[in-house]
Amino acid sequence: MKANISEIFQSIQGEGKYAGVKQVFVRFFECNMHCVWCDTPHSIGDTTRRFDQYASEELLNKIKDLWECCHSVSLTGGEPLMQKDFLKVLLAQLKQAQMSTYLETNGIFYEELADLIDNIDIIAMDLKLPSSTQCQPFWKEHKKFLNIARQKDVFIKTVISSDTQREDVLRSVDLIADMDPHMLYILQPNYFDMSNGVMDKCREFQKVCFNRLNNVRIIPQMHKILKVR
Ligand code: SF4
Repeated sequence: MKANISEIFQSIQGEGKYAGVKQVFVRFFECNMHCVWCDTPHSIGDTTRRFDQYASEELLNKIKDLWECCHSVSLTGGEPLMQKDFLKVLLAQLKQAQMSTYLETNGIFYEELADLIDNIDIIAMDLKLPSSTQCQPFWKEHKKFLNIARQKDVFIKTVISSDTQREDVLRSVDLIADMDPHMLYILQPNYFDMSNGVMDKCREFQKVCFNRLNNVRIIPQMHKILKVR
């Protein structure tokens, strides 16, 4: 079995709770979503279908070559859970090699997550607000996904753009708070909207979030500011 991989590289994590740690990034090709501000369009399968195919042993060796002093392997995309059968094999190999794993996901494929969760250490779950992505809503899927993910080190983040509506933020807060008001919720200002007043929106939404959640942070994409990959 082989996986379709867009790219493999070493860099620092630019988003969320683990911003700044050194990681090996494995970017899986293809995504089920088409977020209007997607910053990895080469990996979603819309405009280009360029990828390399790797067997799990091959990929593991490549990860080992890049591993020096890394904190974890970021399994990102695209949407990695679309290649679940391959991930199952790779995750077991990474565990055996004592490499921590960090799943970066759009938080929709809950059945796949349930099948893989034993061998995942950290989950960076996106909550896709429809007014922000301009895609269909996935509230039910997100709820089921988070309920499974919470048994691990999970944090939730959502992109705030100039189009993001307050009602969507309120709904996301209810979804999280009904499960656990202490879970970390990160509001990530859309980098492309920084000059469109998106920080003001983030601060307004953070205030709203604090009505039901107690760990809400505004964190931008550091890698874009630092101009690293
Ligand atoms: S879920 Fe992620 S990879 Fe997929 S389209 Fe949205 S931003 Fe891009």
